[in-house]
Amino acid sequence: MTSRVLPGRSRPAPPSGRADAYPEGVQRILVSACLMGRKVRYDGAAKPSGDALLAAWSQEGRLVPLCPEVEGGLPVPRPPAEIESGAGGAAVLAGAAKVLTPDGTDVTASFLAGAQAALAVARSFGVRIAILKEGSPSCGGLTVYDGTFRGRRVPGVGVTTALLELHGVSVFTEDHIAEAAVRLRELA
Ligand code: SF4
Repeated sequence: MTSRVLPGRSRPAPPSGRADAYPEGVQRILVSACLMGRKVRYDGAAKPSGDALLAAWSQEGRLVPLCPEVEGGLPVPRPPAEIESGAGGAAVLAGAAKVLTPDGTDVTASFLAGAQAALAVARSFGVRIAILKEGSPSCGGLTVYDGTFRGRRVPGVGVTTALLELHGVSVFTEDHIAEAAVRLRELA
């Protein structure tokens, strides 16, 4: 883990306040920082979820907010990026596809670094469940954009999602938080 301080930095905070404290013995959930209202998206905005379960888990100190792209060294704001050909995160992990910006800049290394950082944080907190922002080339859980920057999605997962799932973390989108709650009860 790095000690960099970046705009919109998303690393889990030290146990200073209730929402950011991590009590022992609680099954923690990794969550996309933008869903928790942190302005870390490529356009400098957030995508707060407003879900009641997320709010309750936050109050319990159960959530570990993280933005893989910021953790991978990308700034806020930053150019949008998509996986070429909509190939999906597993292809990126395998070296078979790149993550590119609209002008063709290759940002694959940052996406891979962000995925590894997310996995390291997940391991350090014993995370078995993640709730990640749908459609993102890092966090997507069911769909990603098709690589044309025309707003078209195809079935697939982001780079971080692919790596977390490879290591046994159950990833849910912000539209499937109830299913995450079922999984949480199974793990209790
Ligand atoms: S979707 Fe993931 S990578 Fe994109 S801003 Fe949200 S947390 Fe960061």
